[in-house]
Amino acid sequence: MYIVKVLVEHPVHSLDTTFDYLSHKKLMVGIRVWIRFGYQKIIGYVEAIEETSLSQEELEKKAGFQYQYILKVIDEEPLLNEELQNLAHQLSKMTLSPRISCLQAMLPTQLKPGTHQAVGIKKQLAVQVIPHHQAKTTKQQECLEYLDQHPDILLKDIPYSRGLLNNLEKQGLIQIYEKEVYRQPFSLQHEYQPVQLTDDQKKVVDGILAHQGRVALLHGVTGSGKTEVYLTLAAHYIHHNQSVMMLVPEISLTPMMVEVFRQRFGNQVAILHSRLSQGEKYDEYRRIKRQEVKVVVGARSAVFAPLENIGLIILDEEHDASYKQESKPRYLTSQIAKMRGKTHHASVVLGSATPSLESYARAMKGVYDLYELPHRINQKPLPKVEIVDMIQETRHRNYSLFSRQMRKSIQTTLDKGEQIILLLNKRGYATYVQCQDCGEVLKCPHCDVTLTDHRSEHKLKCHYCEYMIDYPRVCPHCGSTHLKSIGYGTQKIEEEIEKTFVGAKVIRYDVDTTRQKNGHLKLLEKFRKKEGNILLGTQMIAKGLDFEDVTFVGVLNADLSLNIPDFRASERTFQLLCQVSGRSGRGHKQGHVIIQTYNPDHYAITCAAHHDYKTFFYQEMKYRQKAKYPPYCHMVSILIQSPHENLIHQVALDVKNYLLSHSQQTIVLGPAKSTIYKMQDIYRERILVKFLHSQDIYDALNVMNDYYNKQQKGKVRVVCDFNPYSQI
Ligand code: ADP
Ligand code: ZN
Ligand code: ZN
Repeated sequence: MYIVKVLVEHPVHSLDTTFDYLSHKKLMVGIRVWIRFGYQKIIGYVEAIEETSLSQEELEKKAGFQYQYILKVIDEEPLLNEELQNLAHQLSKMTLSPRISCLQAMLPTQLKPGTHQAVGIKKQLAVQVIPHHQAKTTKQQECLEYLDQHPDILLKDIPYSRGLLNNLEKQGLIQIYEKEVYRQPFSLQHEYQPVQLTDDQKKVVDGILAHQGRVALLHGVTGSGKTEVYLTLAAHYIHHNQSVMMLVPEISLTPMMVEVFRQRFGNQVAILHSRLSQGEKYDEYRRIKRQEVKVVVGARSAVFAPLENIGLIILDEEHDASYKQESKPRYLTSQIAKMRGKTHHASVVLGSATPSLESYARAMKGVYDLYELPHRINQKPLPKVEIVDMIQETRHRNYSLFSRQMRKSIQTTLDKGEQIILLLNKRGYATYVQCQDCGEVLKCPHCDVTLTDHRSEHKLKCHYCEYMIDYPRVCPHCGSTHLKSIGYGTQKIEEEIEKTFVGAKVIRYDVDTTRQKNGHLKLLEKFRKKEGNILLGTQMIAKGLDFEDVTFVGVLNADLSLNIPDFRASERTFQLLCQVSGRSGRGHKQGHVIIQTYNPDHYAITCAAHHDYKTFFYQEMKYRQKAKYPPYCHMVSILIQSPHENLIHQVALDVKNYLLSHSQQTIVLGPAKSTIYKMQDIYRERILVKFLHSQDIYDALNVMNDYYNKQQKGKVRVVCDFNPYSQI
């Protein structure tokens, strides 16, 4: 007899513990089973097995309750190997989230194989024994000949009707049978063309290969050939029979990375990302698990791919915010990559044209090895970037979206038959207030973040502390009454562009136009085929696109991301501007960029215009040090949620006091109401803790987390978010 400890698939904290079931058979740890839980039949996850010599009665007598048996075994073998099972445990501890939600985050949602019907000719019958002329009609004969030439073809790919095929099957001429096939999510468009690495690239590759097991930060300007470095490194490990993980921020936004990996490594590549259908995801997962592939290309969750013998883990665009998971378990992909790297003694490569401050600071301290690619391939110059002061435009009574320079450059580029990318910076969804006369943006005096317009209450609020003012009548800087809350929409702008410019054909690339499957690829392909000459989009177009004929990039409103209430606002703006500028002049012609802004002197903008990462880095580090933000400390954001508004603030204060008295050297800010104070009838307050060493605060957080989420369940819930990236 075996006692099976089962984790229940019910991701609330009160159930974050195992329950005992009985089984006559010895089961494997890591498989899923059906169990009865209360009145429900649900899925559980086997965490441990204990053999016992006692009988059921003896066991029940000892325990004082009746045992249930495992109803049914779902998986024949564990879904996660030992490494990943351990990782799930660590992840649960690190992020203070239920173990079951960690397991769920690591696995594809649907773990059922899908099948397609395939049809093939029953060879002996149809070809050899019964001659074709016995088929009744010429159509049937044609079909048989076609099937002769296409053995094992899929039903859906046959250019003959189902009725006709059924008929042939009835006559015993063919057989329609079920067959397991892998679905191919992407089709290849171009062949792989081998290139000779430049000396700079070679140096990077050699350096990384010489230091197996290290974390390397690859800082390479846009167009410096980082992708080729990744490919060469990957090829090396594959050659030595090791596997490689290639992580990208969001696959749908970086289709070119997928394509080059597929070109180079063919079906040794598996692709994992959120836009695959459940079946496709399952197929890819299974191929990885069966070790049929050597490379996994994927977004955030692909970091959990069940690869064995990993030699290399790459995070491209390592600074990207999408590497942070914003729901339970709230992990940082680079952290998981480094943990797996350690286990496998794999090298981890973090690549970016604009590394996160945290990563670059680590490289400066020697924690990471730093590699640089400071030039574009073939010494191609970086684009010429011009900053346009929109205050001057207003002074000249130009209130339109386009400055005079921008208007001229767009028209000139169109006239030359070249292509344009226009970035509409839309990150600042929460509107901020700006003076139309002097450009002043209203900020919190304590936090150096913009105040958010809470229109319904006629108030401006800081989301990092409790500061709040009534919506002002006049600009505190110049006294003007022309205060305005800022916000736009892409569709309106598309119309305006086509009206304003001669010969403009806009391809709008945003969440609306790319929603359908492979919608991104279709739009990009249209742009590549010159079915449009202006690609208009939000942040989505800033990454990874490589179009030869794009010579002009325009940023319509650089300020929106500068003015969001987030300590990373400058960093994100700098990154975005560098990324999007890097889309121009990648072919033979010189690139040109115009950035429209109300803050022409802000270092995030001037440094981006000069392609000057280092100056930006040091300037931003000064601000982070002064204001005590990462990388000068770690942060955990604590979200306190309750449907009872009368309770929440008191609980938040209790949490704050508890943390203050049970931790050392921490700064506890708040509690303050969340940006969205009430969400789905739940009230939310937030506390921000800054700390230097996690051991100074971890135990206190753990106790607090347990107390509210396990013992006091129901009334108040608490979510800890380490390394927070968002404040919603
Ligand atoms: P990054 O990822 O750093 O922005 P890419 O890897 O996209 O840069 O490279 C920019 C361009 O240079 C691409 O078109 C790529 O094919 C080309 N390229 C990269 N390495 C080489 C090389 N060694 N020789 C010739 N062309 C190269
Ligand atoms: Zn003003
Ligand atoms: Zn503040």
